[in-house]
Amino acid sequence: MTCWFCSIREEDEAKALVLDLYGEVRSEAKDGGTRISYTTRQVRIPRCGDCRHRHRRARIAAMLSVPAILGAATAGILGAWHLASGWVWGILLGFSLGFLLAMALLRMYSLRGIRSVRAARTVHPATKELLDRGYQFGTRPGDAARESAESSEGPRK
Ligand SMILES: [Zn+2]
Repeated sequence: MTCWFCSIREEDEAKALVLDLYGEVRSEAKDGGTRISYTTRQVRIPRCGDCRHRHRRARIAAMLSVPAILGAATAGILGAWHLASGWVWGILLGFSLGFLLAMALLRMYSLRGIRSVRAARTVHPATKELLDRGYQFGTRPGDAARESAESSEGPRK
């Protein structure tokens, strides 16, 4: 199969993107307790080695943006409340914003011309079909997910 992300290269089977979803969560009272049943599905999206490499780089860039945002926020607080001299927060702010810009460019460059993992999670036909049927990402209902699934089950029927 052709890689879904670039639509050019042949897929590398070992590098496919595999997404776990669960859905059709049902809870029924049984023996004084609640029994939860659900269905799990796995969506396998063909991907080539190059696209996987680009996805990985884009994810690292996104992760490294977090400390840069914190740095910029810290600089903003130091500056606004006069907690540090101008050059201290100025350098911190400049460095953080510069780094943030570099990471944004790296991410853009990495994903240029290919579909993102986010697209696979939202617009890929197989994923979308499951999401439309109320499926969520994960291998089993977590507590928060279970609650929302339970509470939304009534009106859906
Ligand atoms: Zn590809």
